[in-house]
Amino acid sequence: MSNEGPTLADGPGHTHPHGHGHTHSLTPGQESHAQGKERVRATGHGRPAEGPGHRFDLPDLPEAVDVFDTTLRDGSQQEGLSLTVDDKLRVAEQLDHLGVTFIEGGWPGANPKDAEFFARAPAELSLGTATLVAFGSTRRSGLRAEDDETLRHLVEARTPAVCIVAKASEMHVVEALRTTLDEAVAMVADSVEFLRAHDLRVFLDAEHFFDGYKANPQFSLRILRAAEEAGAETLVLCDTNGGTLPHEVERIVSTVFGGYETQVGVHFHNDSGCAVANSLAAVAAGATHVQGCVNGYGERAGNADLSATIPDLSLKLHVRTIPADRIERLTPVAHHIAELVNIPPNPQQPFVGASVFAHKAGLHTSAIARRSDAYEHISPDLVGNGTRFVVSEMAGRSTLSFKAAELGLELDSAAMASVLDSLKRLEHEGYHFEVADGSLELLLRNATGWEQRFFELESYRVIADHSAARATEATVKVLVGTDRIVATAEGNGPVNALDGALRAAIGSRYPALSGIHLVDYRVRVLDSAKGTGSVTRVLIDSSDGDRTWTTIGVSEDIIEASWQALSDSIVYGLLRTSEPAGA
Ligand SMILES: [Zn+2]
Repeated sequence: MSNEGPTLADGPGHTHPHGHGHTHSLTPGQESHAQGKERVRATGHGRPAEGPGHRFDLPDLPEAVDVFDTTLRDGSQQEGLSLTVDDKLRVAEQLDHLGVTFIEGGWPGANPKDAEFFARAPAELSLGTATLVAFGSTRRSGLRAEDDETLRHLVEARTPAVCIVAKASEMHVVEALRTTLDEAVAMVADSVEFLRAHDLRVFLDAEHFFDGYKANPQFSLRILRAAEEAGAETLVLCDTNGGTLPHEVERIVSTVFGGYETQVGVHFHNDSGCAVANSLAAVAAGATHVQGCVNGYGERAGNADLSATIPDLSLKLHVRTIPADRIERLTPVAHHIAELVNIPPNPQQPFVGASVFAHKAGLHTSAIARRSDAYEHISPDLVGNGTRFVVSEMAGRSTLSFKAAELGLELDSAAMASVLDSLKRLEHEGYHFEVADGSLELLLRNATGWEQRFFELESYRVIADHSAARATEATVKVLVGTDRIVATAEGNGPVNALDGALRAAIGSRYPALSGIHLVDYRVRVLDSAKGTGSVTRVLIDSSDGDRTWTTIGVSEDIIEASWQALSDSIVYGLLRTSEPAGA
């Protein structure tokens, strides 16, 4: 096939014979994970899916796909996401624990932090499954590869593999690089050759490939050809602006797949909301290397979310990605990484979000107890997530009994009736137990006759003063057993001061308290439906390092609402860490 490749106008009928004898030579240590040309059909062409119902043909699919995570490079472009070198090492450990094929660790030439990461990685990272990849760009225009600093940094990063980006769009070469198309092609050829001469495995990120291909396919394909001829292992087609749609991906990727001997990979951004769908379409069209980020991190709308791409490929399309017995690590790893990058996990994130297997309505929850597949597209256990029953005033008795069972509590029918009554009344007052799992558990425990005996409040007082920096002072009077304790603390607000005073009062009795921290405090003013004034709802998130819980308080008085949420959060935390004392 010549460099003048087919255009979109050639249509889907344009095909090339697959697997015609040529094998791309691998250097020692260069492993073939999912080489495109050794594509084995997981499902025979046109073979219908099993089952007695509606039959439809599954597409031809490769047997396996390499998963290339770029959280530490492209993902860290996300607004508000900033990682220390230690954070990056810990994220890499999590990705390896998950079992991705490649971890792109950063751009060693671009900033000292990434250089330090690659310097420390050999001693501090022991990767079991993943191969570490350093990122960079091709040589600069008009420079020899051996004189180029970026390429030198890549070699010095001492990773087995490198990924270099090259502009694969005529417009970007002319407008951004301000060089000729021939020079852009030579930059790719020289750079890949230089890196291959240093025994490095080379991935080529063809930047703006899809947009470039639509405007001038001949040039975009010349970039790929140059990389292939110089020995690149994978040609990665990038949708850098994220605007491409699945039907375009299918046509363009199958054209490339048909025209090159080298493995085809893809890299999608989510600006059209199609990054995962595009990745799947690309695999169906022959790509066997998929890039993305766990949790879909990345600039603008983010990169393809590997937490969805992986289970879609493995569980639904039966294409091997990470090792099968590690798919259940997806949810814990996604949450652990969210904690490391310090961005709260999105509860609605497909497969791994806290809400995506949560069931609310009463009718629906009794149905799901009988048939779990009635309202769940997969068994949540497969991805390490779990079914959750959400309790609200809309919920019936069955939801509540599932919730109680989930907590290991036994509620007889009288207790159940009284909890339902309380829930209805409290939700009417402005409580919202769906989001306050900690307070809900205490409410259910109370219904079984349990009472917290960690402390008993006699009174509290909060004094706010405008004059000083830490101006709020709180005094708490409590009984612990028969001892009456009075303690005072200052804080930068009422919750902070009350928290300090309560800890000062009971901290020495309950050492576990030092491991419990308030992590978030949210206030919302609710309009009363009756127009008799507004009430304040306070939500407090607390953590003991392993798990997080939310408690709620509602009152016309913000301090009282805060105290309720605070006191529940401490009781719940102590209950978790010192069962006997509170039971
Ligand atoms: Zn990108």
